[in-house]
Amino acid sequence: MRVLMLAAPGAGKGTQGGLIAEHFGVPHIATGDLLRDHVSAETDLGRQIKGFLDRGELVPDGVVLDMVREALEAAKNDSGGYVLDGLPRTMQQARAVYRMSVELDMTADVVLYLQVGQDELIRRLLARAQQEGRSDDTEQVIARRLALYRQVTEPILGWYESRGILVSVAAERPVGDVTREVLVALQVLQAVIGQVPDSDRRSIDLTGLDTAFGAEAEQGSPTAAEA
Ligand code: ADP
Repeated sequence: MRVLMLAAPGAGKGTQGGLIAEHFGVPHIATGDLLRDHVSAETDLGRQIKGFLDRGELVPDGVVLDMVREALEAAKNDSGGYVLDGLPRTMQQARAVYRMSVELDMTADVVLYLQVGQDELIRRLLARAQQEGRSDDTEQVIARRLALYRQVTEPILGWYESRGILVSVAAERPVGDVTREVLVALQVLQAVIGQVPDSDRRSIDLTGLDTAFGAEAEQGSPTAAEA
């Protein structure tokens, strides 16, 4: 299983990415974690990276792409699968990672989009700031990261959608509910991958499920007051 995760900061890429990777027994390659590892190691590169992270700006493509190539090569020597989280963030990175994965013969099977509204994203990032104290989880830097996401990352979704490999999930729900839905979708797709050419596939949008079943679920399940 080869998955790219695409979502706003705070949407749960790290959490869901880890769970998906564990489920399929493939490495979870998270660009943010790889970059923070360099910063903690206090290497020269780490010191350069830190400035970008602290300002909420994107780290130069060359740095991120080199790190990811190394991780993909390691994954190729292992099972060949991966969950890549945090890349691509721009159309240029999308093209670069596509070229790289064609070259390595390990193009993504699925691009997973986690949909979360702006208010909830800010709430989650501020909550994480209290717990983890990440240097880029301050109100000002969060605003910059979200703006960059809207400007340069979100527009890539259309490209994947037209290639028929996008799976969109409503992620403003408890972690376990999101994981369950994602894993069901990926397991169903696993049967198709390799049998059907990408060009014959259709993107899957599950973000409406919430609204479709929401009313029924509320009627059917006890409210907090009743339980
Ligand atoms: P989040 O998605 O919550 O912003 P990440 O841990 O994925 O958290 O990324 C943290 C920071 O790392 C980003 O704000 C950015 O500075 C840098 N970064 C991560 N991935 C990339 C990338 N593909 N290209 C450039 N910079 C990146």
